[in-house]
Parts: sequence; C-alpha cells; structure tokens
Amino acid sequence: MAKKQFKAESKRLLELMINSIYTNKEIFLRELISNASDALDKRHYISLTDKDAKVDKKDLKITIERHPDTHQLIIEDTGIGMTNEELEKNLGTIAKSGSAEFREQFEKAKKNTDIIGQFGVGFYSAFMVAKRILVETKSIKSDKAYSWSSSGEDGYVISEIEKSGYGTRITLDLKDDTEDEKYSEFLEEWKIKELIKKYSDYVRYPIEMECTKHIPDPTDDKKTIETQEVETLNSMVPLWKKQKSKITQEDYNEFYKSKFNDWEDPQKVIHYTVEGNISYTALLYIPSKAPYNFYYTDYEPGLELYCKNVFIMDKVKDLIPSYFRFVKGLVDSDDLNLNISREILQQDRQVKMMAKSIETKVSSALKEMLEKDREGYEKFFDNFGLNLKAGILADYGLNKDKLQDFMIFRSSNEGKYVTLKEYVDRMKDDQKAIYYAIGKSVDEIQNLPAMGKLKEKGYEVLYFLDERDEFVANTLMNYAEKPFQSVNKGDLDLESDEEKKTREEKAEANKDLLTTMKDSLGDKVKEVRLSSRLTDEAACVVADEGMSLEMEKYLANDPMAKGQGMKAVKILELNPEHPLFEKLQKLEKEDPDTLKKYTSVLYDQSLLAQGLSIDDPKEYAKSITELMMK
Ligand code: ADP
Repeated sequence: MAKKQFKAESKRLLELMINSIYTNKEIFLRELISNASDALDKRHYISLTDKDAKVDKKDLKITIERHPDTHQLIIEDTGIGMTNEELEKNLGTIAKSGSAEFREQFEKAKKNTDIIGQFGVGFYSAFMVAKRILVETKSIKSDKAYSWSSSGEDGYVISEIEKSGYGTRITLDLKDDTEDEKYSEFLEEWKIKELIKKYSDYVRYPIEMECTKHIPDPTDDKKTIETQEVETLNSMVPLWKKQKSKITQEDYNEFYKSKFNDWEDPQKVIHYTVEGNISYTALLYIPSKAPYNFYYTDYEPGLELYCKNVFIMDKVKDLIPSYFRFVKGLVDSDDLNLNISREILQQDRQVKMMAKSIETKVSSALKEMLEKDREGYEKFFDNFGLNLKAGILADYGLNKDKLQDFMIFRSSNEGKYVTLKEYVDRMKDDQKAIYYAIGKSVDEIQNLPAMGKLKEKGYEVLYFLDERDEFVANTLMNYAEKPFQSVNKGDLDLESDEEKKTREEKAEANKDLLTTMKDSLGDKVKEVRLSSRLTDEAACVVADEGMSLEMEKYLANDPMAKGQGMKAVKILELNPEHPLFEKLQKLEKEDPDTLKKYTSVLYDQSLLAQGLSIDDPKEYAKSITELMMK
C-alpha cells in the first residue's frame, strides 16, 4: 500500500505532538476514550432507531489491554467504526484547520503548548506517547474492515484487513522511556485505573480491563493467590444525573475539559433540573476563553442533546439563542422522542420550550455574575462581549431589550467598566443624554476636543473603543429614556441659557466672518459656527445629525462600502475664546486671501486631528509652508 502524506497543517500539528514537551501527556487516554465513547453513542443511537442495526446494550463497551512485553497499549471500542473514506477524512487531515487563523495560532502554540487542546486535536495527542499508531476499524455501514497506521510525520498507510466485530481498535506502540519520561508507566495497572477515575469516570459505557485480583487460596486459607479478572474501571453514572451535592468543582471541570476539548477550566458552570410541562436536566458551561475560531464561520455552536441518558445529537443550535452561542453543554430530557431529527427539532414545541427555559437560566446566571462577581463578568465580557453586541445588532434590534443590561463600557470614570444602568443612575441632575466618545484608545479619546467641556460639567463619558459600539448605541437609541449622544456630533446642548445667549450674540456679531469662511470651504461643510464644546482647541470638525465621523472612517476601511464615498455631513466649529479667533476677525477685514488659506488649513487640521483623511495633502502642506514664511 502506498504511503499517503498528511495535509500540511496536520503534519505540523503532528510535529508539535511528537516533539511535545507538554507535561500533561496522560490526557491522550482521555482523548481516545472520549472518541470511543462518542463512537459508542452513535452506534447506540442508530441501534435504537434502525431495526437492522440492533445491538445489545451490554455489548457496547471499551476495553483496555496492557502488553508490557511488546510495550503496547490497546484501546478498543465496539462503536460505530469508520469506513475507508472516514479513516482518510478523520485521521489523515484536520479538516477544520484550513484557515489562516489556525496557522497563526499554531505558530503561537509552539511557544505555548497550552493551546494544543483548543483545536480538538484529540486523536493526534496519542503521538505524544506513541511512536507508532495502528487503527483497525470496521464501520457498521460497511462489511469491509480497514487499518490505518502511522509513525508520524512521514505519512500514513490505509489497508484492507480482516476484523470480526464492528468498532475500532487502537494499538499504541509506546515511546521508549527516557530520563524524564517514563512512558512504560502507561502500562501499569494502577496508572490506567488512576487516569480513568480522573478523566473518564462518567463515560456511560463500561471501560473494562484485566486487573490483578487477590483471592483466598483454596488450599491454604491464610494465603491469597493472584489471578487476573476483568474489571469495570469507571462508575458510569452520567455526571449531570448525580446529585449536585455529590459533585465537586473538580468533577465539573474535568468533565468539561474531556467532553468539550478545552484545556482550561470553564469560567462558569450552570447545572440544574427542571420538572414541569417539560422536564430536563442541563449542564452548561461558559468557557474561560473564547475558542480560537469563535468569531469564524467554522465555529459550530449548539448543545448536546440526550434523551433518557442516550446521546441523540450534537451541536443542536435550536437549544440556545445565537447571542449565547458561547455556552457549551448538554441537555437531557425524558420527554423527547428518540427518533427526533434535526429538521423536526426546529419546529418541536418541547424543544422550543426547553430553549426558552435555557435562555432564561443563562440570562440569570450572567446577571448574577454581573452583580456578585464583577471581575469575573468583565473577564467574560472581554471574551464574549462582542457576541452579545452582535446579538443587539442582529434582526434590527429585536433582542436589544434582553441584552442591553449585559453591556459594559469603559468610561471617563477612571477608565473603568460601567453598565448603562450604573451610568444613568449616577447622571448629573441637569444631564440630558448618555455621552459617548469614539476612539481607538483611551488616550485618543481623552484628547478629543470636546472632552474638556464635558469634564468641566462633570458629565461621565462612555468610551467606545470597539467599532461596533456606536452601532449598538444607534440600535438602542436610548436607555432609561436617555438618548445616546456622541461628543462629536450635532448640538451637544451643554450650555446654560446664559452661555447660549452670549454665544448667539457673538455669532450674530461675527456673521460675516462665519459666512465668508463657509463660502470659502464650499460643499465641504454644511456650516461654520461657534462652538460650545471646545475649551483649549481653536477649532474642530463635527458631524451633523446622521452619519458620524467614526462611521465615515469605518466605512472608508470597509471593503464592501469602500469607493462609494459615503461621508458624514460636516460642520466646522470655531472656539471664540481662542486667541486665533481674534486673528481671524482681523484677517476678514484686512486680508481676505489669507483668511481663505487659514480656513482651509484649520479645516484640514481638524480633520487630521479626528483621524480622518484630507482631500489634498499636497495643497495642505503647501499652505502650511506659506504661512510659516509669513
Ligand atoms: P474530534 O474527536 O475532536 O472530532 P479527533 O482527532 O479526536 O477529533 O477525531 C477525529 C474524528 O475521527 C472523530 O470526529 C471521529 O469521527 C473519528 N474517530 C476518532 N476515533 C474514533 C473511534 N474510536 N471510532 C470511530 N470514529 C472515531
């Protein structure tokens, strides 16, 4: 048989496994058992729904064999098995890994082996302990059996073989012991027992192994003799069916890691049972880190569905709304039909009721975290806040009321996170709006021209550091009847009546100046006016109602909108208290040509200060040079 080569990414992943310095190599067993358990689940499920595939429940099991003489460890299951094509597809490539994202993460992984687990590289982890792997398998969909064998990077061979029962048998030729690593430990009875208890106790099929037993010697009752007897190593009670008081945090964490291919403990566990119109048990987890592909299309959300302890289906999206798609976990109900299909699920009334109830539970858990564990919540939000924001924006804001209280933003209150409720609760009596400022960094925002004035007034400003924040504000429109107001947009309405009057009088007195400047800028601005938001700067550009300057920036970089030239309607604001203003007044009377230059330079530099591009940088530079020489 010809040797086949692994796909590039798989090969690199293998290299990583083979040369792994990861200290926790023992998890390979957990990964292989977990695959075996999934395979048994699939076979069990098919046997319940397809008469021809009937199998006796007691024949569904996992067997571990230790062979110290040949230095081999064997893990065998009577599960669904793999066809020739499946072997090729499942073990020859890492299908999910094509993306650039994977490669990027992968490079990092070399420095940080902790990332290994995030890719669901389950099977390949066996290469951390084995120098050669032989997989012999027979699928219930085929009468032929196949083997797959590989010694690592240089490829694999698939051949047709003879195999009696259905299922998969994996033989690991363990690596030779070294100074630091005692691979032969994995051939010790106590070690395997320890690992199964630690990682795979709740697997719902027996994990059997021949173990040494001491029985009374029939010829001498003071003595015992050693025999070998098959033992079931795991307790087999599904974790979620155990009494909560009997479950430790450690149990929850280990179960999560083995089941959902994560390396890290979850951030939060939600475990509960509901009795009533529909009865079910749910065991849900919020990961402590967003999966590497969470924000990519290849991330598959959804919960596992069980019916009376029988696994039915994986990744059931209908059980969890997409704004909570970060939740991992499973749901077990006695009320569902085993024959339920994905298509039927979508319309099933009971599934809908369950989904509703799950959503409520997740919601309350998040609320509780926000109230009682602020630090934890902020960490959660750093991971998944983006997804909640997307939830607000989706479907024209359909779910905004449900989600708005989960939003937190950094603010001018020492840059700390604040909820909208907290913001509104501590608003100044005379404050009319929820102010926000947009920028790439806290520094950039703090330097915005309008910030000084708001600080003077003692108004808190939300920092919109993420591009989506403004879309969120636009979708919410207001919170507790207070409208959102950008500090760079429209009329800020910050003045007292007195101040307003003074400004209006000043504007009237300088009408000609403002009109001349507007005329010299032409279509570039809608208006040149006196500002109520500036303290230190001479001028700034603001957007009129409608599209904001930030939106313009965002669209300018958006590949879809690029080139369509969508722009905010701009207004140039002058600070009448700034010494430059006097100069402008003077120029208007004495040197209209220079006023034109000044106007154009002021406008351009205000745009630059906002991070926007200017139409004619060459002309701008030329004007500056000319003015320097005056
Ligand atoms: P994952 O389990 O995360 O999908 P693995 O690399 O561990 O990734 O396994 C890849 C695939 O190979 C599995 O999804 C499954 O389809 C198949 N597979 C692995 N082990 C077995 C097994 N013992 N029996 C049947 N199929 C298996």
